[in-house]
Amino acid sequence: MLKIGITGGIGSGKTTVCKIFELLGIPVYYADERAKWLMANDQNLMKALKEAFGEQVYTKDGKLDRGYLAKIVFNEQSKLNLLNSLVHPAVQKDGDNWHEAQKDVPFTLKEAALFFESGSYIYMDKMIAVTAPETIRIQRVIKRDRTDEQSVKARINKQLPEQEKVNRSDFVIQNDGSQSLILQVIEIYHQLLP
Ligand code: ADP
Repeated sequence: MLKIGITGGIGSGKTTVCKIFELLGIPVYYADERAKWLMANDQNLMKALKEAFGEQVYTKDGKLDRGYLAKIVFNEQSKLNLLNSLVHPAVQKDGDNWHEAQKDVPFTLKEAALFFESGSYIYMDKMIAVTAPETIRIQRVIKRDRTDEQSVKARINKQLPEQEKVNRSDFVIQNDGSQSLILQVIEIYHQLLP
């Protein structure tokens, strides 16, 4: 059973594409969402985070204090690297267990914004990149997250340029409104069938 990774910049439409694959019966592992869940619930990871960043990472009632953690890692690259070095292996292991548990499907999909940035694309059999022009992505995210242009641009600037993700992927989905998203997904789905 193949492991397929799907990535793309913020607002490119990764999640939308994954929903279409789900309608075709393909299970999707949402790595970024799952990472947040693991940080709040996985006992081993929680212990490691407390050891690395102090007990204050969790509030008195046991909830992850995202603000506190964000402040620590925001301006210090070494702290961000440390956080990633704890979270990424936990997500990798959890994702592998999830993949093994899937039955009677031709392949599974794993969605992550930073597949190439984190290096975890190497564990995937094939990669799909979803892409759309930056102006469209910004407008979509402003609408989706009720945020402003400057904040979206700041998030975009922290990611690899989309073109690089496109160049390094096996399949590319253009989500600029000029071609049907559903038909592009169905085409890739057929190519991935055994
Ligand atoms: P990502 O997961 O890559 O950040 P999303 O799939 O959440 O992107 O898409 C960003 C926003 O744009 C969402 O609100 C989504 O509904 C919308 N969107 C995505 N693709 C299209 C499209 N082809 N036409 C219109 N809206 C779209």
